Amino acid sequence: MSRPQSRARRQAAFMEEAKHMYEKLEDWYDAHPQASFGEIEAEARKRRRELMGKTLEQLVNGRTTGMQVEAPKCKQCGEVMGLEGYCGWGVHGLEGDSRLERAYYVCPHCEGQTFFPPG
Ligand SMILES: [Zn+2]
Repeated sequence: MSRPQSRARRQAAFMEEAKHMYEKLEDWYDAHPQASFGEIEAEARKRRRELMGKTLEQLVNGRTTGMQVEAPKCKQCGEVMGLEGYCGWGVHGLEGDSRLERAYYVCPHCEGQTFFPPG
């Protein structure tokens, strides 16, 4: 799973995925030389969905996972919360499926949990 990276690195990761997608299409066409344009398009659409999912994953996770320089304070007791780890969840988007990642803080007193960025 990706951690925050510079814009140039995020772009490089995208270019790598795009190259990979194109190569897969080339391989597929090699294996299906009689394919109609519609069949090629259908295959490309599937690959596009995979690529878009990964692209958005990179775009979102690559900017921030919500890890704070200063740990947030508990809304209930005001105690400084501890970084428990990272929590990932799948998003079934219009353009593709992505796995997003968020920092996960827990209050040592109240078992309060917070994800950053919220939402
Ligand atoms: Zn608390």
